[in-house]
Amino acid sequence: MKKIVTLILALTFFISCNVSKKSTSNSSKTLDASVLIDSNLVRKHLYTLASDDMEGRKSGTAGIEKAAVYIENEFKKIGLSTFGELEDYRQTFTFKNRRTGEDITSSNIIGVLEGKSKKGEYVIISAHYDHLGMKKSGEGDLIYNGANDDASGVTGVLALAKYFKEVGNERTIVFAAFTAEEMGLIGSTHFGKGIDANKFVAGINLEMIGKTSSFGPNTAWLSGFERSDFGKIIQKNLVGTGYQLFPDPYKNFNLFFRSDNASLARLGVPSHTFSTTPIDVDKDYHKVSDEAETLNMTVITQTIQAVAKGTESIIDGRDTPTRVIVEE
Ligand SMILES: [Zn+2]
Repeated sequence: MKKIVTLILALTFFISCNVSKKSTSNSSKTLDASVLIDSNLVRKHLYTLASDDMEGRKSGTAGIEKAAVYIENEFKKIGLSTFGELEDYRQTFTFKNRRTGEDITSSNIIGVLEGKSKKGEYVIISAHYDHLGMKKSGEGDLIYNGANDDASGVTGVLALAKYFKEVGNERTIVFAAFTAEEMGLIGSTHFGKGIDANKFVAGINLEMIGKTSSFGPNTAWLSGFERSDFGKIIQKNLVGTGYQLFPDPYKNFNLFFRSDNASLARLGVPSHTFSTTPIDVDKDYHKVSDEAETLNMTVITQTIQAVAKGTESIIDGRDTPTRVIVEE
């Protein structure tokens, strides 16, 4: 009796395993981003990158080095390959700090998922992992944790790398965590110098995606919306998801040229920044109070899911956005 039961159980297990295996491989393209983007992992990335231990992640410091190692280890766990001629995930270079004149050596952290059928066509997904560091003196909190700016965006890059590794991609995706954005878009500008921009069909930059946007829950806005049809493609892909993308409402803030998307846009790449933060009234922007606890984890997770869904037709090669118009 026992043996028979065991045999039946074993058979049932075998059959159910086969069925679930089959359904996974057949429906991998249609798997819902809401299943594959895990809110616990999102929380872990965010709280690690924004922790006091990273000392505000200023380029050239020991604090940002800890963040660099964390991102490298995550890229390795996911199984990303390296970019171009680089031997590892680091694109290390030295630049002069415009304000102090000192030489700083720092690294962009770059990983790649090679495309299946269109490997010569690149989509970049980026965010900056540097921030302002620490106050030199004073009382109380001295650390600019930069949870929203831009640990939230880097969290998105890591979550999307894992997601696209699982669902697959027709175009090659380059995942980049840029350094020295806060010193003047320096990491992304350096990256731009080493590429053939014509091969980059789109740039997806994530910046401050941790607070509910002024358009309400389940919304984000896109910088430079009218400069290419990238935003319209995203809007089309989000129909029916309950999530909406709007044009950047803060025209006089000139945000299109204030984040890393601009470095590739200046080379003609339709490269835009997704954000959710009401920057006009945000009291934590570039303050030591920009802490993980001030962010809404649901907003971050849903926004990453929306970026996954919204960019799907670009990643798989069905849509190609128009080249960007960059008059400043
Ligand atoms: Zn930023």
